[in-house]
Amino acid sequence: MKNTYYKEYRKTINLSSKEKELIVLCKKMLKECGNIYSFQVNSSFPGCNFYPRDVSSKEIIKHSKKDKDLLSPYTVVKRDKDGNLFSVLYSEEYKESLSKISQLAKKAYSLSSDKELATYLKKLSKACLDNSWEDLENYWLSIDGANKIDLQLAPIEPYMDGLLSIKHAFQGTLRISGDRKKFNPDDYISVISYINTQSNYLRNKTVRRNDQVSVRIDDCLALAGDQAALPARGSNYPNDIEKVKKYGTKILIYTDNIRLREEKLTLPILTALISPEFLGSISKDRIFDNLVRSVMMHEIAEALIKYPNSVKRLKDMYIPVKELHASLMGAKVASFHVLKGVLDHKDYKLLLLFRFVGRTFSDYFSRVLFGKAINHYVRGYTVAFNYFLKNGAVGISERRVWVNYPKLFSAVDSLSIIFDRLMAEGSFEDAKKLFKKYEDYSFYKPFEHKISKLILGK
Ligand SMILES: [Zn+2]
Repeated sequence: MKNTYYKEYRKTINLSSKEKELIVLCKKMLKECGNIYSFQVNSSFPGCNFYPRDVSSKEIIKHSKKDKDLLSPYTVVKRDKDGNLFSVLYSEEYKESLSKISQLAKKAYSLSSDKELATYLKKLSKACLDNSWEDLENYWLSIDGANKIDLQLAPIEPYMDGLLSIKHAFQGTLRISGDRKKFNPDDYISVISYINTQSNYLRNKTVRRNDQVSVRIDDCLALAGDQAALPARGSNYPNDIEKVKKYGTKILIYTDNIRLREEKLTLPILTALISPEFLGSISKDRIFDNLVRSVMMHEIAEALIKYPNSVKRLKDMYIPVKELHASLMGAKVASFHVLKGVLDHKDYKLLLLFRFVGRTFSDYFSRVLFGKAINHYVRGYTVAFNYFLKNGAVGISERRVWVNYPKLFSAVDSLSIIFDRLMAEGSFEDAKKLFKKYEDYSFYKPFEHKISKLILGK
């Protein structure tokens, strides 16, 4: 059977022979990790294969009073002959694959000259056997990000558990640090703190932990699990707010995934949408750098600008609001870099164009390929585009999109204030009202034929 939950990028990089050997071992581990994920995933049941199919969340919670392990992120729940629920540790359930990974990790840590990676591999080898995943994750979060080669392989994040959002799915990435100097994430982090202190209602409410944020801009070597099924452009860890308080935030930007997804989707769509002169005058490398920057700005804004109780207040509207908020605030942060002379006006135009025209159309038209999760993004981008249309910042004529950049700049600014207020103090009803006004999908219509053809080839 072909392992669709493992993916690797072939590339030649300058590595020592020991590092090469180490990478071969890590890739083997990730292949096994993909196998475990294939045992866990099951799209026909909300609880995937973490629970018996006939179980309800109520029943699990009731029985967890006797057996706390039923609610552990690292156990599978089963039913015995008499119908009673019991739990099996991941280290037991996936013993065959995990003992292989443990052996490989043991071999690998003797090869690593990097102390932090070596310690991670040692802890990984142990966790495979004794289920100490929590300890492994906490250690990974505490690594400051200076290591050249970085591996993450563990049951991470409860997104796949549609029953209780508890069980973690196996996934992993093997990465090598890319050109950090060029993107200078630390500078973006400090600009965000500047914006925050300037804002009246941000001053006291924001949770800011700049000193506890680390950003890695990485080239990918291999991906496993969920990461292979839908390669992320960027991600930030951990998800759990209590853990953020303790360990800070770790942001990963995956340059190869960005290249792959944008070259196949966003760029061709953008080329078809706007007049060809602008993109044609810019080098491929520069386009690519700004695509990476665009993802980085979103992730940094998303991780850093957080408000108390926004999940509770905004309910179902939280994710669409949060995602657009991060894109708008990210764009605002970039404008400060134009003032500082780090970016020039062409870079800035590209950033606005990618995010608010390119991604808007590519996410909308590719939603059939990526499933439900992408809808949260589509909703936000659609709201933004209608707002920009109304403000004369963008327009549609003869099946092309035109952009008035000075107006777009000012519309991004005013919309970011609206969304920041929603995140800071808005209610579910406030968000609903705003979306009702601007969530109109009719502007996509004239492009349906042209873009569907580009994406699906029909
Ligand atoms: Zn996001």
